[in-house]
Amino acid sequence: MKRRKAIKSIGLSITAGLWLPSALSSCKKDDPGPEVPFDGTVAIIGGGAAGLYTADILSAKGINVIVFEAGSQLGGRVRSLRNQREILVQTSADFPVELGAEIVYGTNSAWGNIIKNYTFTRIELNTQATEQFILENQAKPATEWGADSDFQIVQNFMQGLPGYSGGDVSMSVASGVSSRAQALLNSLAGNRFGSSSDRVGAKGVAEALNLVEHDNLAYMIKTNPLQDIVTSRFSGVLGKVKLNTAIKSIAYSGDKIVLTDQDSNQVEVEKVVVTVPLGVLKTGGIAFSPGLPAAKVTAMNKIGMDHALRLIIDFKKNFWGEGTGYLWGGTEGPAYFNTGVARSEFYRTLSVTVHGPKAQQLSAMGDGMLDAVLAELDAIYNGQATLYVRKTLTNDAEGNIIEGDRVWFKADWGKDEFFKGGISYLPPGSSVQDRIDFSAPINNKVFFAGEATDNRGDAGTVNGALNSAERVAEEVVQSIIGA
Ligand SMILES: Cc1cc2nc3c(=O)[nH]c(=O)nc-3n(C[C@H](O)[C@H](O)[C@H](O)COP(=O)(O)OP(=O)(O)OC[C@H]3O[C@@H](n4cnc5c(N)ncnc54)[C@H](O)[C@@H]3O)c2cc1C
Repeated sequence: MKRRKAIKSIGLSITAGLWLPSALSSCKKDDPGPEVPFDGTVAIIGGGAAGLYTADILSAKGINVIVFEAGSQLGGRVRSLRNQREILVQTSADFPVELGAEIVYGTNSAWGNIIKNYTFTRIELNTQATEQFILENQAKPATEWGADSDFQIVQNFMQGLPGYSGGDVSMSVASGVSSRAQALLNSLAGNRFGSSSDRVGAKGVAEALNLVEHDNLAYMIKTNPLQDIVTSRFSGVLGKVKLNTAIKSIAYSGDKIVLTDQDSNQVEVEKVVVTVPLGVLKTGGIAFSPGLPAAKVTAMNKIGMDHALRLIIDFKKNFWGEGTGYLWGGTEGPAYFNTGVARSEFYRTLSVTVHGPKAQQLSAMGDGMLDAVLAELDAIYNGQATLYVRKTLTNDAEGNIIEGDRVWFKADWGKDEFFKGGISYLPPGSSVQDRIDFSAPINNKVFFAGEATDNRGDAGTVNGALNSAERVAEEVVQSIIGA
């Protein structure tokens, strides 16, 4: 990013017409102009799915955009291990290992529609993988739990969620599940939605489930990292992106909006779309001047965004079952996923997703989190996790092969200053209306997008991020043509 003066001159070249008049002078009277004539620049903060799609739509309409991304790569919470060049950990996986989003929901959803345009092989979870459920340190598929009453109560509660009509309480309270099955409930009704089952509200999830209009087929892509799909789909705007540029303040009281980055460089723009994760806004990662309206702050604070962790652990042997997909019901690892299922013969890599207080607890343990997770797997699989966890191999001075560190990797989303958490969720006492109130534009100048602002039932997913981009792009266009 250039110093303020330099950037201002870029702004002037657009607004005062250093190139625009000459471009116009070569136009004939009936040449089609841009769909939305606008001399200004729209800045987009954040280069995840929401930010890139917003830039793509606005750009396609002829609006000048610039995307500021704090990190060194694009995709945000769509991030694939293969693209992390600085990571030395080499898993044995010959398939994409995801550090954030890994499952695609829907074939006719916003994300599903993008994926449909490429010829990818899908791995469908409900037909190509078997779920296992853990109760009392035993992992078994649903068919084998059969009539177990605790298992049935959890299953029935989950299946009945769209029709939930009980109180505005947490999943734990709403379900009435016994202590024996609390961890299983936590996996399916808490962790799955971004926190623990005593924090996620039953009403908010039910409301969202009823808003979803797309089918809910859950699948992976066999060979392509999801991050590559995002950057490929939005390649048209990559030239508009400034990486390694964290916007620290947005001053919007004047005619122009002044954005200041981490190095105190400044740029002036006419409109700004904020797509950073809710956790960043809630922790004051961006200072607004004037401060955000009270109604927006209230709404923002009603929506939850807790710590999240993804662990990738490599083993020498698959001891959890070749056809196993998700393994639900762990306490240390509420969602174990056999990420190579139906993708490869090297299905010896487990991906562990942890949201909420447990993620914070594991994060505080540092590398000790691996021991905690392996101990839980050992208890379920008779010590096989510690026995078979893969270790790096090196030669000593005599040429003997010696085992080194365990091969694993952690993505600590909650600790990362540009995310400050995993995904947004609705605690008891909040509703989708809070997402709508949070997303309200300020003075037709400052706009909000990102998964937490989704109002179509897809918050917390890539679909939610993309939906929000469609909404915010329309708001920006209306603010221009309706002005
Ligand atoms: C562990 C985990 C598992 C998930 N699993 C799934 C899944 O299986 N399926 C699914 O559909 N979804 C899943 N999700 C959710 C999905 O990844 C997100 O909902 C989606 O990617 C969010 O996109 P976004 O554009 O709203 O935000 P982000 O992708 O977070 O993009 C925001 C961007 O803003 C940048 N930023 C932050 N602060 C600043 C600043 N000050 N200045 C400039 N830039 C800044 C960040 O670096 C980031 O790139 C998962 C998320 C996590 C964390």
